[in-house]
Amino acid sequence: MSQLPTFLVAHGLDEEGGMPVTNPATGEVIAKVRNYAASEVDAVVQKAEAARHGWAAQTAKVRSSALRHWFDLMVKYREELALICTLESGKPLYEARGELDYAASFAEWFSEEAKRAYGETIPSFATGKEILVRKEPVGTCAAITPWNFPLTMITRKAAPALAVGCAMIMKPSEATPFSALALEHLAREAGIPEDVFRILPSEDARGMGEIFCTHPTIRKISFTGSTAIGKLLLTQAGSTVKRASMELGGNAPFIVFDDADMEAAVEGAMIAKFRNAGQACIGLNRLLVHKDLHDEFVEQYTARASALKVGNGLDEESQIGPLITDKALQKVEALVDGALAQGATLACGGSRHNAGAQFYAPTVLTGVTQDMDIARSEIFGPVASVMRFDDEEEAIAIANDTNYGLASYFYTRDLARAARVIGALEYGMVAVNEGLLGTEVAPFGGIKESGLGREGSRHGMDEYLEMKYALVGGLPG
Ligand code: NAP
Repeated sequence: MSQLPTFLVAHGLDEEGGMPVTNPATGEVIAKVRNYAASEVDAVVQKAEAARHGWAAQTAKVRSSALRHWFDLMVKYREELALICTLESGKPLYEARGELDYAASFAEWFSEEAKRAYGETIPSFATGKEILVRKEPVGTCAAITPWNFPLTMITRKAAPALAVGCAMIMKPSEATPFSALALEHLAREAGIPEDVFRILPSEDARGMGEIFCTHPTIRKISFTGSTAIGKLLLTQAGSTVKRASMELGGNAPFIVFDDADMEAAVEGAMIAKFRNAGQACIGLNRLLVHKDLHDEFVEQYTARASALKVGNGLDEESQIGPLITDKALQKVEALVDGALAQGATLACGGSRHNAGAQFYAPTVLTGVTQDMDIARSEIFGPVASVMRFDDEEEAIAIANDTNYGLASYFYTRDLARAARVIGALEYGMVAVNEGLLGTEVAPFGGIKESGLGREGSRHGMDEYLEMKYALVGGLPG
């Protein structure tokens, strides 16, 4: 048995018939997890549907306390949860700790917001009649989450759903079920009823997605993952007109204008690109640098990227872990090779790394242009593609030339330009002079093919609430 803190995931282990979960840094099996079949979902949904009414009937304060307790337990088991996250996702331990803090912040935030799902009264159009708008829980919800933020993706969806009185059934990625199961275990310990929050690991993603989207009792599907799968789920969910939230892929531009603080921009671009070995939906995908700063920027950035320590995430020194699968590694390799064949230049990296079978060296490419595959695809690896631009207009045009619209970044010291560019960028999120923008207090989400809906902030709860308009007549005039 590996270092897996089994006391947190014991209810999900199945060493006989379960599916193996491997550590991407070593290829070793961490443990085997219970593998749910799509045919088992109906029974889970029936139980959730039966239990959710009692959960919704509790006062908001009771649900708030349970979520707060869940948060406290995450903090208490911070090291164990970070270890599980590193073992199955490969990310360095310090990043896993940071992710746990971020994940826990959603339980804390929505424990507070649980008490603020306000409805409204609207000034009436006639005497003797009152107009009420109630906010009511959507019902039993289902969600599918990816492996790259295996803790956060669970809490960012489950916490708002549970806060307002919904039931939530989730299928985590088959690569990272233990992070989700550990959070489920802690939720039970915190007093969240077993049937209103269920984690169902499965290797049958397609079958689970189909039943989640077509089951008539499930009222909402929430998905984080690739745009291709998001489109498939939206089509399937149409059959029962389900509510849908979609957090999909991105192709983030990171623009360094000629008046930028170079040092700050290099620092920001390091975080935006190399966090989680580049496997982040909001990760920098195209690094646009003004021609006057270009050479100096590339020199500084390449020096920083080359100095990153690549290795097993369990080693406290590691800054870049493995890619999640060999397939992911091959995709990154193909994109880099393709860019070089199409005329890009290698500033550093450009090959696998000898830390292990699934490691790729931090890479910087220059001379990338919009017509190259690497500028059009989500790279999802530790590869920065640098493009040169002449003026603001050109930078904006390049930045917006994509079907995606999740995160964008730019660096400038000019306030007027900042206001102009915030308005011009067709993205759900814009970071100005910052390389990291995720926080539980702000609405996270994209436009165009990057998704529908927002997570986090007070808006995150609306995703799990229906509005009911009541006209109350017969009142004294
Ligand atoms: P993915 O292939 O779409 O997988 C995401 C989830 O969908 C996993 O649980 C996966 O299960 C499941 N899945 C796969 N095929 C399915 C199907 N036919 N029907 C239903 N579910 C299916 O995405 P990924 O490559 O693992 O994750 C990275 C993607 O997520 C990137 O595009 C990234 O930008 C996006 N992402 C977006 C956000 C955001 O907030 N916008 C955040 C993080 C990641 P298995 O893993 O078990 O196969």
